[in-house]
Amino acid sequence: MTAKRSAIVTGSTSGIGLAIARALAETGSDVMLNGFGDAAEIEAMRAGVATRYGVEARYSGADMSKPDQIARMVDEATEAFGKVDILVNNAGIQYVAPIEEFPPEKWDQILAINLSASFHAIRHVFPGMKQRKFGRIVQIASAHALIASPFKTAYVAAKHGIAGLTKTVALEGAEHGITANAVCPGYVLTPLVEKQIPEQAKARGISEDAVIRDVLLAAQPTKRFVTVEEVAALAVFLCSDSAASITGTTIPIDGGWTCH
Ligand code: NAD
Repeated sequence: MTAKRSAIVTGSTSGIGLAIARALAETGSDVMLNGFGDAAEIEAMRAGVATRYGVEARYSGADMSKPDQIARMVDEATEAFGKVDILVNNAGIQYVAPIEEFPPEKWDQILAINLSASFHAIRHVFPGMKQRKFGRIVQIASAHALIASPFKTAYVAAKHGIAGLTKTVALEGAEHGITANAVCPGYVLTPLVEKQIPEQAKARGISEDAVIRDVLLAAQPTKRFVTVEEVAALAVFLCSDSAASITGTTIPIDGGWTCH
């Protein structure tokens, strides 16, 4: 029987993170939710996870661009659950614009949330994982950790950075029962993608329908969006005991996009 685990999933009030938090709870893990949104809706999500799966579910409103708040979130999870076995670094934002129009403050914000936040969270969970000789770190990276697209300088740079961070952490954790892997989804229809459709249309001077058909799904040979449940199932597997020898990887889940 697998021991009861406890997890932090950053950016889990929406999209992929919420699906991962629910899927981990379904396996019996206690979960710390995190992310922004309407307080009543978040409380309903938290209570729903706790009652549906019979686990402890907590919420931290920590802003992933703030290292001190990340440290506090890890402390709160450790206090609530006694330990943090699983860290899923999922919080992320996107901004689409040609480089000469790319606002420097957006660059800084994306690097802080999509890259540096992972470093800060890992730094804080690592000592406990080492001590207990077990840890699972899952980075929700992107196909953009492996390849580039125009108009996404900050996002592509941050996600490529995540790939390097993941490999380094995998090496440091290897003898301590800690794995670190980067999941690299193609396009998943979440608020993050819905928001960039008009931005892409503007940057490329085409209609929103054309963005979906000719830019987003054109990249994916399957011609359909990846689902949040598919990404969550992969993350749950990487957190399992069976995945103990999978570490330092960047795993595409992209309908064949990165075969091109
Ligand atoms: P989403 O917009 O649905 O969810 C993002 C989550 O991050 C939300 O819970 C939001 O509140 C949270 N968040 C944003 N800024 C935050 C901050 N400063 N502090 C704490 N939480 C914050 O997006 P999603 O599509 O589910 O994306 C989740 C992750 O998956 C991101 O890292 C994204 O880059 C990655 N990803 C998404 C796709 C896709 O097509 N949707 C593809 C590849 C990778």
